Amino acid sequence: MTTIAQSAIANLKEAGLGDVLHVPGQQTYQAREDSYWSLTPRLGPWAIVQPRTAEEVSQAVKALVKTDGCKFAIRSGGHMSFVDAGNNIAAGVTIDLGLMTQTTYNPETKLASLQPGGRWADVYADLEKNGVLVAGGREGLVGVGGLLTGGGITFYTCRYGLGCDQVVNYEVVLADGSIVSANATSYPDLFRVLKGGHNNFGIVTRFDVNTFECRNIWDGNVLYSKDSTNEIVAALVDITEDLAVNPVSHVLAMWGYLPRSKEHFINMVLTNLDGVENAEPFRKFLDIPGQQNMKTTTVAKKLVEFLLPSNRFDFWLTLTFRVDARIIQRVAAGFEKMIEEIQKSIPDSNFYLSLVLQPLLKSWAQHSVDRGGNILGLECLPGDCIIMVATVETESLETLNGAGAPAIKAMFDDIEAYATSLEKNVDFLYLNYAGGGQNPFQTYGEENIRKMKEASAKYDPTGVFQERVPGGYKISKVN
Ligand SMILES: Cc1cc2nc3c(=O)[nH]c(=O)nc-3n(C[C@H](O)[C@H](O)[C@H](O)COP(=O)(O)OP(=O)(O)OC[C@H]3O[C@@H](n4cnc5c(N)ncnc54)[C@H](O)[C@@H]3O)c2cc1C
Repeated sequence: MTTIAQSAIANLKEAGLGDVLHVPGQQTYQAREDSYWSLTPRLGPWAIVQPRTAEEVSQAVKALVKTDGCKFAIRSGGHMSFVDAGNNIAAGVTIDLGLMTQTTYNPETKLASLQPGGRWADVYADLEKNGVLVAGGREGLVGVGGLLTGGGITFYTCRYGLGCDQVVNYEVVLADGSIVSANATSYPDLFRVLKGGHNNFGIVTRFDVNTFECRNIWDGNVLYSKDSTNEIVAALVDITEDLAVNPVSHVLAMWGYLPRSKEHFINMVLTNLDGVENAEPFRKFLDIPGQQNMKTTTVAKKLVEFLLPSNRFDFWLTLTFRVDARIIQRVAAGFEKMIEEIQKSIPDSNFYLSLVLQPLLKSWAQHSVDRGGNILGLECLPGDCIIMVATVETESLETLNGAGAPAIKAMFDDIEAYATSLEKNVDFLYLNYAGGGQNPFQTYGEENIRKMKEASAKYDPTGVFQERVPGGYKISKVN
């Protein structure tokens, strides 16, 4: 009897993709499975197909759609880290864009063309040779495809808006295998929903994005002891307010704990985008005693060095609240409490906790409007906000499910309830930071949900990207 898996493989071979088709037991198959950032989405698909061109992506889509009952996943960098993220699939085939990694620059149009399987470290290195840069990822190995289809918070978001707002044209393979260009004048409704619409409408095979001049940055981090929490919270509130009028900086506040070494730290990642040393907006941070590690560099050079540890099981949750020192204090206290709780249940286990806070400004919505609009609904933000992402990483799935995830969830619930009690909880979940159980599209506003549903019905009338690509956040599952 022929199984669905056998039929899918036969159809992919018949489509001329036999030489880029990998099945369990083969070296390339294993290497691609091992290259997911997290252990969580390594699901062991029936097969992995690695198209080299948009035409081959189209062939793959047609072959898989015509295989009755066959489901599939779409993978670019492989950094999204929950089981149903849509970048891999247990019972199905993964379309892996890992051979489509080119970055090219056109000096006449000043546009960069990025293939989805590229990693940001390579994108920046290629562009820097041309003296230009784009607004993209902030960790070297994150992929182009997932970051830009999910939105894209970048070093330059306070200055130019989200990564997706820099895209002026998408080359995309639709459910019927057709390859179209979506931009302001061609398929404008599709263009709009691709800006943040994740994997709901097609497979993006090329992003044409605006560039800007590449400059030195003054960048690095300052490590503080948790005793400096009060001063750090005050400085974070101040700089968030300043950023709205003076978008020359980039900041990330990270609370971290490494149980093996019992290291507990607050790490401020600071970047002056114009390369100004000891710039005034950082004065409050730099005045707090800490271990400073700042230097003049470029984004490309920074990303070669900036890689977050991989090969662990992950659990992420995100939350958005109005800028308010009391809530940030609650976050800091909640982080302490969470560490104590986890230690009680798994004192000797290997787990890694981190909690990142960063500004999410109302002005990002205007950047989006100026560039044609996206579907994240930032225009509904009540004002400047802080976006929080809390993660726990473990070396065993049992520890993750048994202790890590419940502890993070308890902390998260407490912060959310506290923010709500102050009327400062904001109904917005950023898709790229959301956990598997969260529902970011539900928070993007009625109008955007309607636009996405309409585009899905128009460009994917048989629901391929809803039913046959079951992973990721599905617009059909939003009320
Ligand atoms: C270490 C780390 C650092 C991060 N830093 C940032 C950051 O600075 N800013 C930020 O905004 N986010 C950040 N993220 C979140 C990140 O943007 C998402 O995880 C993103 O999905 C990763 O992109 P990827 O190409 O690796 O995606 P993948 O894991 O390959 O795919 C993620 C999702 O996107 C879909 N998808 C991928 N490619 C395509 C395509 N070409 N067409 C249609 N759908 C596609 C997949 O089906 C899947 O649902 C970070 C994540 C990690 C783990």
